[in-house]
Amino acid sequence: MRLADGSEPGPVYFDVGSGTHMPSSTQWHVYDGRFGRPRATVLRGSCSCGWRGMAEYPLDWTTLPHDKPLYEAAIDLSGPIADHDAHLSVIRAAAVQLPAELIDLFSMKATTTDNRPPPDLQDRVRRLG
Ligand SMILES: [Zn+2]
Repeated sequence: MRLADGSEPGPVYFDVGSGTHMPSSTQWHVYDGRFGRPRATVLRGSCSCGWRGMAEYPLDWTTLPHDKPLYEAAIDLSGPIADHDAHLSVIRAAAVQLPAELIDLFSMKATTTDNRPPPDLQDRVRRLG
């Protein structure tokens, strides 16, 4: 997501009146220029790790509605989504497989219903250390 000046906008805050909590969003469709929000000029893939896609997908504001949310417009998101999927594939390919013993321990922890580890879990963790 980029603005006309080439910058990447920060979160959009929603004024919901009084209160201590002010909701915000960085979803692509909030940058529609309505209600004083920034207006995006291009879309691109992005990830919470900081990665940004090289390809940019321009938004044609001569055809987009100025009075409706962007998610209601028929915007083709396949380019940014495909770029993000490709980024995730690279991350998966570079990931190190956890040892089977560690996967077993995580699985045991995930299946416990209370917050206490299974009886033999602490012994197994000690053996890994
Ligand atoms: Zn990432």
